[in-house]
Amino acid sequence: MTDRNQALVNAMAALGLGSKPQSLIGGKLVDGNGELITLVDPFTEETLFTYADAGSELANQAGNAARKSQQHWVLDYTAAARGQVMQDVSRVVLNQLENLATIESIVAGKPIRDCRVEVAKVAEMFAYYAGWADKLHGEVIPVPSGHLNYTVREPLGVVFQITPWNAPIFTAGWQIAPAIATGNAVVIKPSELTPITTVALVKLAEEAGLPTGLVNVLCGLGPTAGQAAIEHEAVRKVVFVGSPETGRLVATAAGAALKPVVLELGGKSANIIFDDANLKHACLGAQAAIFSAAGQSCVAGSRLLVQRSVHSKFIDMLSQGMNNITLGDPLSEETEIGPISNARQYQRVTQMIVKAKDDGASVLTRASSESTGYFVPPTVVDGLNNQSVCAQNEIFGPVVTAIPFDDEAHAIALANDTQFGLAGAVWTADLGRAHRMADAVRAGTFWINSYKAIHVSSPFGGSLNSGFGRSSGTDALAEYTSPKSVWVDSAPTPKIAFGYVPS
Ligand code: NAD
Repeated sequence: MTDRNQALVNAMAALGLGSKPQSLIGGKLVDGNGELITLVDPFTEETLFTYADAGSELANQAGNAARKSQQHWVLDYTAAARGQVMQDVSRVVLNQLENLATIESIVAGKPIRDCRVEVAKVAEMFAYYAGWADKLHGEVIPVPSGHLNYTVREPLGVVFQITPWNAPIFTAGWQIAPAIATGNAVVIKPSELTPITTVALVKLAEEAGLPTGLVNVLCGLGPTAGQAAIEHEAVRKVVFVGSPETGRLVATAAGAALKPVVLELGGKSANIIFDDANLKHACLGAQAAIFSAAGQSCVAGSRLLVQRSVHSKFIDMLSQGMNNITLGDPLSEETEIGPISNARQYQRVTQMIVKAKDDGASVLTRASSESTGYFVPPTVVDGLNNQSVCAQNEIFGPVVTAIPFDDEAHAIALANDTQFGLAGAVWTADLGRAHRMADAVRAGTFWINSYKAIHVSSPFGGSLNSGFGRSSGTDALAEYTSPKSVWVDSAPTPKIAFGYVPS
């Protein structure tokens, strides 16, 4: 066994997991019996595990376990006690940071330094929403009648969450924490390619005191386990994080069952550089925006709009910068960019680079000496217009399409000429212009002289093909609860002016 495989086995054993991915249902680790799924280490291209899809049978069991545990969670715990358990989960996650980060790094191919940050953020998510558990107040509404009218915020019941492979434990925490803080139970299906850290997170949470069955993890495929969970009668809402194509399938299935959805989908975000910006800062920001996480980030700054007067200079700066980024083994402390996370995505990214060349782009790619692994080095595509395939489609790799613009109005028109509405940024020294751009660019998140800052306390989501609904901050509390309006007749004589009192 190689050192990295031994590190994976050790980390899984330390977290109480078996030797391959297993679903976690009602507190028990269980094998599926569906189609076999093979996971490959994206750095060595060697097989890590083969396991069986959870399928519809385990999805049904997960829905049933969640329904039962949700009642226990809301009836037998005070709101403050629920918050206390979540604080304990936060501490346990931090204690196991290194083991969780090691698994994530090997299975998803993410640099270990990024994985450590993401695990720490998961602990922060549980602590943040722990604080909200006993602060979900309703309102008293001054209705124009002799009634006292007040609202309470009720949990939905069971929610089903589907997550992608690019930030597995981060996205699991991002969705699970607000759902349980508001009194719901969860069935979650991580990507079949990166399921282990989600199982590990929930298992740790149970060890910290979370009731078993409150969160159930399905290790398996979307069309089988995923669709069955959407249809489970206990499921009251579906929260999907992934591609627009799959989001459409999920929303269609949920719509047929009259279940609401939140969709957190892809993006093609504009990172806009004006000639008055601090170009050194903007250059660092542009590299972080597209090359960090090897571009496998929904908010990646994948369209680089640069004012024409500094376009060539800025592209030179960017290509010098990218030549110094460290590519390599995700487990190495120095690595800033690991491989693409899986073979299917690697093919997509490399095909898009070929397409850019076919379309006549000038393609600048940094040299790479890796002998194995799904590596795509940082790449700048220049010379295409905003209607090109590379400017309109999410590539989800370290590939940025650079487009010049003339003035503010032109930059706004280009930024909004996309089917997406997830994120964007502007770099400028002009404060008024910065705010005008923030107003004008269609995006759920917008940065001024910055990129990629997000926090659990701030709302996150998109519009158009980037989806709808919000996944963090106080907006997520609203997504995971339903208001009930209660009317109490408080008039001296009853207000009902209908019917007859029997004599
Ligand atoms: P994907 O759509 O292929 O898969 C996402 C999830 O959907 C996986 O768990 C998959 O198993 C499941 N799935 C697949 N088919 C299904 C079906 N028929 N029914 C139910 N579930 C099904 O996405 P991906 O390739 O894993 O992730 C990359 C995408 O995710 C990119 O488009 C990226 O922008 C997006 N993303 C968005 C956000 C956000 O918050 N907006 C965050 C991260 C990633």
